[in-house]
Amino acid sequence: AVDVRGVHKAYGAHRVLDGIDLALRPGQVTVILGPSGSGKSTLLRVINHLEKPDAGHVSLNGELIGVRRHGTRLKELSERAILAQRRRIGFVFQAFHLFPHLTVLENVAAAPVATGQLAAKEAQKLALGLLDRVGLADKAGAYPRQLSGGQQQRVAIARTLALKPGIILFDEPTSALDPELVGEVLSVIRDLATGGTTLVVVTHEIGFAREVADHVVFLDRGRIVE
Ligand code: ATP
Ligand code: MG
Repeated sequence: AVDVRGVHKAYGAHRVLDGIDLALRPGQVTVILGPSGSGKSTLLRVINHLEKPDAGHVSLNGELIGVRRHGTRLKELSERAILAQRRRIGFVFQAFHLFPHLTVLENVAAAPVATGQLAAKEAQKLALGLLDRVGLADKAGAYPRQLSGGQQQRVAIARTLALKPGIILFDEPTSALDPELVGEVLSVIRDLATGGTTLVVVTHEIGFAREVADHVVFLDRGRIVE
């Protein structure tokens, strides 16, 4: 479970997150809705410590993210320790950020090898299984530029799954896609949801939210208003 407690974040005088409390329970799907600029991306970035909160904290299964207790204060963890925690929290962005010079298979297999979790052979096997799961087994040898946007985003999801994160954060995973490609990506996320992965999805796809969300959180000006 992920616990967000009393999180505040400001840029200068601009309060972007203004006291966020949120509990994400294992296996549940939380959808975050809210107008542009309401702090949705910032909240996701705070959860995996890409942004450091000014106050409050985030914990994953009781373990603080990005910091440790030092007396009554919180002290920043080392970069290395933060990276290790971040691997347990998958992040899928609006733009897919695949490695252009690597094949689809290599894109998915790269991280578990780079982090020493798997040997190259095992990572390839895992990657093939994951590509099958997102419906792209036949594209393993292709390069990202040879794929549609929806296919690229599905590769990005498979790549995130390769690190076996306990929770996956999606920041508008379909908003860069042509409308006819949105469905195939949502369908992969829906399969993850029914498979029991803990998900947080920022999206403007209201129908999708209604269908898969266990919780819907509505953010407005840095507060959860509903
Ligand atoms: P959108 O729906 O447009 O993606 P959002 O809800 O994700 O919006 P955020 O990206 O979290 O909104 O941004 C919230 C506010 O914080 C915005 O006003 C934005 O300009 C501001 N902001 C975000 N990141 C920074 C930064 N690094 N420096 C300064 N201001 C920032
Ligand atoms: Mg955003």
